[in-house]
Amino acid sequence: MTELRDLTPHTAIASEQAARDGRQRRLLRTFLPELVSLERMLAEAPEPITTRVVDRVNMKDLSLPIYRADIGSSRPDVPVVLLVGGVHGLERIGSQVVLAWLQTLLARVTWDENLAGLLQKVRITLLPILNPGGMYLNQRSNPNGVDLMRNAPITAQDRSAFLLGGQRFSPCLPWYTGDPEQGMEPENRALESVIQELLPGRPFSVALDCHSGFGMKDQIWFPYAYRRRPMRRIASVMALKLIWEQAYPNHDYRFEPQSRHYLTHGDLWDYFYKLVNRENAGVFLPLTLEMGSWRWIRKRPRQLLRLQGFFNPLVPHRHKRVLRSHLSWIDFLVNAAASHENWLPAREEESMLREAAIMHWYRDSQ
Ligand SMILES: [Zn+2]
Repeated sequence: MTELRDLTPHTAIASEQAARDGRQRRLLRTFLPELVSLERMLAEAPEPITTRVVDRVNMKDLSLPIYRADIGSSRPDVPVVLLVGGVHGLERIGSQVVLAWLQTLLARVTWDENLAGLLQKVRITLLPILNPGGMYLNQRSNPNGVDLMRNAPITAQDRSAFLLGGQRFSPCLPWYTGDPEQGMEPENRALESVIQELLPGRPFSVALDCHSGFGMKDQIWFPYAYRRRPMRRIASVMALKLIWEQAYPNHDYRFEPQSRHYLTHGDLWDYFYKLVNRENAGVFLPLTLEMGSWRWIRKRPRQLLRLQGFFNPLVPHRHKRVLRSHLSWIDFLVNAAASHENWLPAREEESMLREAAIMHWYRDSQ
């Protein structure tokens, strides 16, 4: 008390602020270390990277930034790679995979001339922690209890999976879509504004949104989630799958439309796919990396004693393996985007690849 009385009002406020900042930093180190790592990386990042706070999520005593980082060409006609993590707060490994790739990129960019050449041909935009409030609270939804992946204005055309496909009953249950009258949640609006500003008019763009928790294998999911029919750009997904599998035959991702697993309401990437592709001649492919967490659980069933254990590798050597195992795939996406003219199907190849895609993925649902 004596110290406070002795201070001038200005210094008292400053010291209160410093105490609050110190407390906030301690809370973040404990409950959101990914944000601390991201801030450190961005603070020390070399010149060519730019950083912005696209919005803030305000919680009691805390204001959590949603960061956007950009690197590469600022020309409006180069292809874009958009990397997103942390949409579901429990699936921390998604953010960590994006951060691991960013760390590699930032280390290489200071000396790698080939990378510098590549970055003249492509733009990379990252939002590694889209739902910082959910990650801080260690919950799937955002702080309002809304599942950001069920919150877009799009309705399943067939029977969606019960509850899991999105429910409007209560934010206390998982997979809550939010109130459609209220529009999308702030985190999703922030992402939408990045997409609206960045993607229209591009010849090619690809998004990778990193999640975990479904199945034994790592999967690459693509739209649609709201219906079982193939999307218009399906030939381009098939072409991408083929060049990946030819170049990296020892990697093992399973490519599938999300609708093969279950239909959902409000899928964010269905919505953005339609938004960007509707009015553009270019191609936008939104992909989701679904890391199969059941393997980590099978190898260590004790993980089920912790909620985090359902979605994240908890053993250090397995965690490191996951962080390194997706670097090639993300590098590949950047290279594929930069050289899209060499593999994106031309008109005559398109119908053939579309047929192949329908045979491969949609035979049962035709
Ligand atoms: Zn998820």
